[in-house]
This record gives sequence, structure tokens and C-alpha cells, in this order.
Amino acid sequence: MILEVDRLTTRYGALTALHAVSLHVAVGELVALVGPNGAGKTTLLSSVVGLLRPANGSVRFEGTDVTGADPAANVARGLALVPERRRIFKDLSVAENLRLAGATVPKSQRKARMEEMGELFPVLRTKWDVSAGYLSGGQAQQLAVARALMCEPKLLLLDEPCLGLAPTMVDVIFELLDQLRAQGRTILVVEQQAQRVLSVADRGYVLRTGEIVAEGSGPELAGRSDLFDTYVGGS
Ligand code: ATP
Repeated sequence: MILEVDRLTTRYGALTALHAVSLHVAVGELVALVGPNGAGKTTLLSSVVGLLRPANGSVRFEGTDVTGADPAANVARGLALVPERRRIFKDLSVAENLRLAGATVPKSQRKARMEEMGELFPVLRTKWDVSAGYLSGGQAQQLAVARALMCEPKLLLLDEPCLGLAPTMVDVIFELLDQLRAQGRTILVVEQQAQRVLSVADRGYVLRTGEIVAEGSGPELAGRSDLFDTYVGGS
């Protein structure tokens, strides 16, 4: 198991945002975490990478206890988070964004890594020297994912990659998920489009008010209309 989250509890002052949440991700899996607004999805990802310190429970990455570990150390271990609202450097070009993201990659490998990103994201290759601020929302999201991939993470965490995107770009992001999965990458994705993401995921978890209320194979959960009427509010 690459990621094991065991009875994780995280609080913001008096508010308990996660109540003893347990989940796991195996190597090569695409796992979806869905749930309504405020369910605690972002809190969970932040707790996993060390941006938030859990009050209780543990996070193990490749068998090592990384609960509350320094986020930079977690990146070095191979745990990469693409946060909500895609953080990229808007004043830098696409190529500079990638180069910077790969700053810790040995120079001899950096160029090959960038070429690989150009193949995976052909639209970015056509905009290599363009300031990232000029990219569309979907292109910016692709750049944010490419930045994370520059360090060849062992586990990629994606927080709402489709947020605010036009429907055609949402299709592009779903194709990308498919492609990354076909490459054998390991992904935990949080997504508002619950039924759609579950239908392409190996497994899924439904989170509501800080608790896991359902888990199972992605397609099986996607077919549970009871869950979506009550918990997630549609697809
Ligand atoms: P969304 O889909 O809206 O991003 P989410 O499932 O990611 O929602 P979280 O953002 O993790 O949910 O929020 C979980 C709970 O914690 C919510 O009640 C939210 O109001 C609260 N919360 C989140 N961040 C903070 C914070 N920095 N300080 C205090 N409370 C917070």
C-alpha cells in the first residue's frame, strides 16, 4: 500500500473537520474522493501532505509514518499535491514554470522530463514561451499537473482539477486522468463531478461532514444513486 490513512482527525480550533477518517491507495490505483462542499476533502489532502497537522490518527507513505511531516520532505519522498485553483507562476513562461518545478531534478534529466511533459500535454508545447497568465483555465490546470509530474511523484494528489473549467476542458482533464492511469501512475483525486470521476476510478470514497459514509469500487459507487441524492447532490 503506498498510502494508508488511519483514523485521521483534523481540527480547526473547535471545529472537527475530519473524524477518524481511514482510507488507502495501492500502487497503480486511481482513487476518487467525493463529497459535498465542506465535507473535508481539501482538509484530508492537506493533512496527508503535512500542510495541516492532524490531532489524531496517522498517515503512512510507503510504510513510513509521515503524520504531520514537513510538506517539502513529503514532496521529496514522492508525494505531490496539485492544490485547488491551480497554483502556477503567471508571470513566467510555461517552460520556466516547468523548469522551476523540476529544480530538484538532476540537470541531466530535466530536459528529458520537460520533453515528456510536452508529449503528455501537446497544447503546452505550442505555448512553451508564453506567459502562464495567458493560458486558459484548462491549459493552466494542465500546467499545474505537469509541474507536479516534473518530479515524478510516486503518488499524485489532485484537488478538484475541473473546478471552474468549461465543459470541453473538463473532458480534456478526464482524458488526462485516463492517460495518467494508463501510464501506471498512482492518483488520489478529489472531484465535485462525483459520478463521473467514480465511473473512471478503480475505487472511491464518499466523505460527508468529515466522515467516510461509503467506499467501494468506483463504478459501483457511481451507480449508487441513493448516495448522490442524499450526500453529494448529483453529478
Ligand atoms: P469544498 O468542496 O468546498 O472545497 P471540502 O470538502 O474540501 O469542501 P474543506 O475545505 O476541507 O471541505 O472544509 C471542511 C470543513 O472545515 C468545512 O466546515 C470548512 O468550513 C472548514 N474549514 C476549512 N478550512 C478552514 C480553515 N482554514 N479554518 C477554519 N475552518 C476551515
